Amino acid sequence: AAKRQGRDRLQIYTPMLSEQTLAKVRLAKELRLAVQQAQLTVFYQPVYALRTGRLSGAEALLRWRNQAGEWISPADFIPLLEESGQIVAVTDWLLGRALSHLRTWRQSWPDFRLAVNISAISMQDRHLVQSVELALQRYRLEGQALELEVTETAFIRDPDKAGLVCDELKRLSVDLAVDDFGTGYSSLIYLKRFAPDRVKIDRSFVVGMVNSQGDQALVRAIIELVHSLNMTVVAEGVETQEQLQLLREMGCDYVQGYYCGHPQPLEAWGSVVPNLFTHRPLADSWQGLGQ
Ligand code: C2E
Ligand code: MG
Ligand code: MG
Ligand code: MG
Repeated sequence: AAKRQGRDRLQIYTPMLSEQTLAKVRLAKELRLAVQQAQLTVFYQPVYALRTGRLSGAEALLRWRNQAGEWISPADFIPLLEESGQIVAVTDWLLGRALSHLRTWRQSWPDFRLAVNISAISMQDRHLVQSVELALQRYRLEGQALELEVTETAFIRDPDKAGLVCDELKRLSVDLAVDDFGTGYSSLIYLKRFAPDRVKIDRSFVVGMVNSQGDQALVRAIIELVHSLNMTVVAEGVETQEQLQLLREMGCDYVQGYYCGHPQPLEAWGSVVPNLFTHRPLADSWQGLGQ
């Protein structure tokens, strides 16, 4: 025991750090292979218009299933893609894949809109604009079919650069949404400067809303603020009928969350309902999307 203790004392901090670093390096290495071997996939989560209950579109969410068959959370691997610079290539790949799906989607659902998450890093670089433009042209899609979600951090890093990228994206008629609103450095200046089309209220406020008067007041205030700026608002992470009802009363425009539908591969979209309030399965109209 004494020997153990001695050893523990000697290695009190460094081993934990290097263990962590090692695990990260291992994951990064595995991820590099995964990118090369096309182990990444895209899941889609439905988004509904709250006033009518009608399906409005989907959010594309990156998924990685490693060789051992485990699903690695995007929260763990996206920072690694960002640090290694691979996020640029992965975003290009995802845009191509998701827009090819979107093209098919819009054949059976003409105003279907797809949201794609964009890293703060990509918002600093004109490459994103070229990549989006190319993908839109390739699949003959109008810019309005696509929405790009960025978090508030994207604006803080280098507001001037991000502003230029935003302006160019707007010229392509692509919509911009602020993701996870309220969790970052929510300066209202950014809403004015970048004039997004939509704001997504972070899940944490939606979770707290039913039991906390404070959270409920915040959600209500965000919705009013966003509307007064002529933007629309999406609530993310809606898990219960009660949350849905409250958001509806507050005039929230769109909802997304497990209550409405989980993120799933395209093959599973047959079970997605075209209207939240009438619940008819889409299976028939969704044929031809099974790739
Ligand atoms: P996000 O953009 O805020 O995406 C919403 C996250 O909430 C997703 O997690 C989704 O699966 C989860 N979610 C949706 N509805 C519910 C619900 O009702 N309850 C709960 N508890 N969770 C819900 P996911 O897929 O793990 O993604 C995490 C984050 O990773 C995303 O947050 C986004 O910031 C990032 N991400 C995902 N895909 C991409 C991508 O292609 N590119 C970039 N740059 N980031 C991505
Ligand atoms: Mg998002
Ligand atoms: Mg979000
Ligand atoms: Mg979120």
